[in-house]
This record gives sequence, C-alpha cells and structure tokens, in this order.
Amino acid sequence: MKTQDYIRLEDQYGAHNYHPLDVVIERGEGIWLYDVEGKKYLDFLAAYSAVNQGHCHPKIAAAAKEQIEQLTLTSRAFRNKQLPLLYKDLHEISGMDISLPMNSGAEAVETAIKAARKWGYTKKNIPDDKAEIIVCANNFHGRTTTVVSFSTEEDYRKGFGPFTPGFRVIPFGDVKALEEAITPNTAAFLVEPIQGEAGIIIPPDGFLTEAYNICKKNNVLFILDEIQSGLGRAGKMFAFQYEDVQPDAVIIGKALSGGFYPVSAVLSKKEVLGVFNPGEHGSTFGGNPLGCAIARVALKVILEEKLAENSAELGNYFLNKLKEIKSPKIKEVRGRGLWIGLELTEKARPYCEKLKEEGMLCKETHDTVIRFAPPLIIKKEELDWAFERIEKVINFTG
Ligand SMILES: *Cc1c(COP(=O)(O)O)cnc(C)c1O
Repeated sequence: MKTQDYIRLEDQYGAHNYHPLDVVIERGEGIWLYDVEGKKYLDFLAAYSAVNQGHCHPKIAAAAKEQIEQLTLTSRAFRNKQLPLLYKDLHEISGMDISLPMNSGAEAVETAIKAARKWGYTKKNIPDDKAEIIVCANNFHGRTTTVVSFSTEEDYRKGFGPFTPGFRVIPFGDVKALEEAITPNTAAFLVEPIQGEAGIIIPPDGFLTEAYNICKKNNVLFILDEIQSGLGRAGKMFAFQYEDVQPDAVIIGKALSGGFYPVSAVLSKKEVLGVFNPGEHGSTFGGNPLGCAIARVALKVILEEKLAENSAELGNYFLNKLKEIKSPKIKEVRGRGLWIGLELTEKARPYCEKLKEEGMLCKETHDTVIRFAPPLIIKKEELDWAFERIEKVINFTG
C-alpha cells in the first residue's frame, strides 16, 4: 500500500479529531522518521516531546523487550518489583517525597486535581465541595471533561459541556491577578512553567518565584504541569529549576517513557498525595511493571546522555541562529532549551507543508506558530542541516 491508500483508510474508518500532515510513518530511529515510500524526515516535534530520547532508543527497547517477556501487568491489587524501583528513581531525580504513577498525562492532571481538592478539605478545612483551583488562560492540561472545563480554548470546549465547576482563570504570568483570585477556598494554583501548546510562551522572569511565594503566604498548593516542559525539554530536568521554588506537586508524562508506552506520574510532598487512602483513587494499568521498567530506563537515558544539558546548549545555539533570519514574515522567535516557537505574521500550516517537502516534520500550534522541538539527542550538524531548510522555506513560501 502507498501513502494515499493509508490516508483513504484512515479517513474512512477513523474519527477526524486530528488534521495530520499527509505523511505515513513506518519506522523511526533516533531523530529520523521514514515513511512508507522510504523517504526520510528529521522529526522536529518528537511526539510533543514524548520522544526526547529519540525514536526506538536501543536501551529502552531492550528493557521493554526483557520486561514484556517477564511480566506486564498485575494491577495494583498485588505488588510488582518494578514499581518501588521507579518510585526511588522519581524521588532521586526530583527530590519530591512520594509519587503516584498513571498512564496518560491528562490522568495525572486529574490525579493532582483530586489530591489538591482533598488536601483542601482535610488540611485546610475548606467547606465541602467549595474547593477552588486557580489556572491560567491559554493553559493546556489535557482533554478529559474536567480538564477542558478550565480550558480557555473554544475548540477544546465547544459542545462538551456541562463542565466541572471549581476553577478560576487568571492571565498567565500575572502575579497580581493570582493574588486577587485567591480566596479562603483556594486549594491550589495549577500552572505550566512554560506554556507549550499555547505556542511556547515563557512567563516574565521571576513569575514562578513570586507566584510560589504568594501561594505559600496563603496556604495554597503550588502545582506545576511539567508534562511537556520537564525531563530535559526546556534545558533542565524540570523547567521550574530556572527559579527558586519548591513545588508542592509536579506532574510529568510524555518523555517519562521515551515514547514507548504511556506513563505519567504525580510527584509531590508527602502531605499532598498522602491524602489518598486505599480505595480512593486508582488505575488498572497505572504503575504496571512494563511501564515502570520502561520509565526507569527512559529516565536513565536522560541522565546518562546529558539530554537536558544538550537541550540547553544546542537550544541556545539554534535560537540565536533562528533570530538571525531577517524576514518581515517572522513576528518573534522565542524558546528555552530545544523548545522553540517561531511566530509568523501569517498562517504556519503552509510552512509546515513546505518543510515536509524539504524533509522536516514540524507541527504548527495556534495557527501562526511553528514549533521546533526535536529529540534531545540531536547534534549541532543536524541542526545546521535543518537551519538551511528552515531559512529557505521562510524566504520562499507565501
Ligand atoms: C500533553 C500534555 C498534557 C496531556 O497529556 P496526554 O498524555 O496527552 O493526556 C497535559 N499537560 C501538558 C502541559 C501537556 O503538554
């Protein structure tokens, strides 16, 4: 079958909740993807940062194969030997006291919301069913009914109500608005340190520190969604490490499995996830030995191959190079680590189509932003190769 045959099948039998580029991928290796026609592409999305370690990393693949033949699922009705080892690794990379594994990112966000609410009732004496959580405009925290309840994106919400109450929205980066939104019923402030899906939006310097201090002053939990910004993407293990904060909870996912398998987790101080008693929360697949074995090696690869350091160094290099492109079509180039948004004065989709022709796979976000987020194993020469193509496409499209 050829590209068009697969596309026809997909369009006929699948739900149309995505608008993918017309390229059908068959194989991936490191930073490269190969389509069914044998054409090769540099992956500049890395599955929304789930494959920071590169496609089909051999060490993660070996661990997955070994575990798949030993034990894949017990449910948490019984213990398995991989889960405690993952707990220890998560503690060591983050310094957080305890953690709770889930599968998708959205599920981990839901878990953090439940923990924050219960913390509000049991530790802060918020009256029953009155707990509030403050979030930011243009947030992205996933697609469940509760999570889209506090989205500000029309497409994510329209037609999906009624929504879950108990959320207040403030502008991203606005500490004054945060202070004003806090009430005696506020349990938590949930925020992305850098807004990814919104178009790689970096808050003003000091925002996280000030927000953290306001939360501490008001006995409000400070919860970070690092599902996309964490695990090396923004040039540090966690994006919050650019500032002086000690979050009460951090949510991770995506690269936690190097793209092999959905694994997410909430990491927290003891008093936050400590609110859950047996039977109050769970997941059949959460914490399964296959996911845990994969996550352990995925984390090890990030550390051993110094992916956060590479992201910081090459991200800086690439950002400066991109800033040199002089074009009236470029509104702004911004980023941290190998997580760069190039905002155009017009729609980005045609540029992504052109970049595909040039052998690079990029995804637009919010209509006018092209994001560059390759696997973090990428090398300088490969970025130079990409730069030539990006420059050409910017200059000759439109
Ligand atoms: C991707 C993402 C999520 C949702 O993760 P899923 O695995 O798609 O459910 C939540 N928050 C942020 C910041 C993300 O980037």
